Amino acid sequence: MYSLVDTHAHLDELENLQQALDDARRNGVIAIVAVGSDYHSNIKTLEISHEYSSFVFPALGLHPWQLGELSPSQINDELEFIEQNIASAIAIGEIGLDYHKRVVKRASKEFQKEVLARLLELAKKYHKPVSLHTRYAWRDALQLVQDAGVAKAVFHWFTGFSSVLRDIINAGYFISVTPAAEYHEEHRRAAKETPMDKLLLETDCPVYYGRETKYRSDPADVTRSLGAVAQLKGVDQVTIAEQTTRNAIELFSLPIAIANSTVSVNPNSHCEPHCHCERSEAILIEEEE
Ligand SMILES: [Zn+2]
Repeated sequence: MYSLVDTHAHLDELENLQQALDDARRNGVIAIVAVGSDYHSNIKTLEISHEYSSFVFPALGLHPWQLGELSPSQINDELEFIEQNIASAIAIGEIGLDYHKRVVKRASKEFQKEVLARLLELAKKYHKPVSLHTRYAWRDALQLVQDAGVAKAVFHWFTGFSSVLRDIINAGYFISVTPAAEYHEEHRRAAKETPMDKLLLETDCPVYYGRETKYRSDPADVTRSLGAVAQLKGVDQVTIAEQTTRNAIELFSLPIAIANSTVSVNPNSHCEPHCHCERSEAILIEEEE
């Protein structure tokens, strides 16, 4: 059995959370990065992570889709909330740009860029990785991340051009792959072109996937992302699982460790898998079993 991390899930939007988390565990998911979209979603995401600590890790964000609804003072409140709670978050996300015409009609490109720049400033200030939505805005998003000097970023569900992808990878950033990699051409190309050490898996649940038959996703569907990447790369699933899980642990500094197929949760986020504290001894014992 492999160990997987769903690196981008909207757990606050799931209908039956407990069941979804049980299913995820049964399917080898050892950690979930739960992203927030706005004030209420951030609060709920924090609550869920608190309830399922050591399994669900929160990212706090402000999704570009929400910007059209917010006044300048509400935007300030959103940013303030994120900053006040930054110590509880492992990342800032979901944030980003969306240049689809329906989104731009409500929140101009300039406005979106202005808000994203402020969020990236927070990420830089508090040394947090960012989880980015960049639909049709790949080049601008990359530019802003680099201008802000943010060291760690993942371009989630990347479907952009190969030229931008190359620059993302050269800059040391990641892309994450959703179950859409089973059928969506641009996403499949991106997954194929990204080296293994820059790949993450995710679901973006509860997004609906599928071409003919659609299904509502939950974190267990990260196994579909895994299967798609394995098929595209021609590499076995165990290898892909191990590499992407290590990438996720490193990028988000997740306080968990993989030990062969046994996974141990380490409550001390500064503890390395092979340090000599009590927790890592527990890990070593499980390794021997
Ligand atoms: Zn999302």
